[in-house]
Amino acid sequence: MADTILVNVNRCTGCWTCVMSCKTAYELDLDTNRNFVRTIGGGELDTPGGKWPNLYMKWMPIWKQSCIQCHGVDGTDNEPYCVYNCPAGALTYGDPDDPESKLAKRLEELRDMEYRVYQIPEWEDTRKGVMYAENGI
Ligand code: SF4
Ligand code: SF4
Repeated sequence: MADTILVNVNRCTGCWTCVMSCKTAYELDLDTNRNFVRTIGGGELDTPGGKWPNLYMKWMPIWKQSCIQCHGVDGTDNEPYCVYNCPAGALTYGDPDDPESKLAKRLEELRDMEYRVYQIPEWEDTRKGVMYAENGI
C-alpha cells in the first residue's frame, strides 16, 4: 500500500493548514477543496463534543476522492503539500509495507503506545491510502 498518509488524530488541532496548503499549491478555486477537516463530536464546525463540564475538541482531516495523491514537495521525501505543512506533526507520509519508511516506523511507535489504527470506509467519498491512529480520545 504505497503513497499512504497516516493521521495521528490525537495531534490534530483542526487548523485547516493541510487544506489551505493544497489549495494554495494548486491554486484551487475558493469553493474547491481536495481535503477538509471534520469536527468530531460537536455537530457543527469547531464546536465541542460531550456535555458540560466534560467537553472535548477533536478533529479528523479527510481526503476526498478528488485528491490527486501528489508527491508535492521536493527535498522532503516527496511529501505531499498537505503533509509537509501540518504544523502539529499530525501527518506522516510513506509506504506502510516498507519497514524503513517514516510511516512504517511511526506506525510501529504508535502501536507500541496502544494507539488504535483504522481506515474509514470509501462510501464517505474518501480517497484510498489514508490511515488514522488515535488513543484515548
Ligand atoms: S492534520 Fe495538521 S494541518 Fe490538518 S487540521 Fe490537523 S493539525 Fe491542522
Ligand atoms: S495529497 Fe496533494 S493533492 Fe491530495 S490533498 Fe494533499 S496536497 Fe492536495
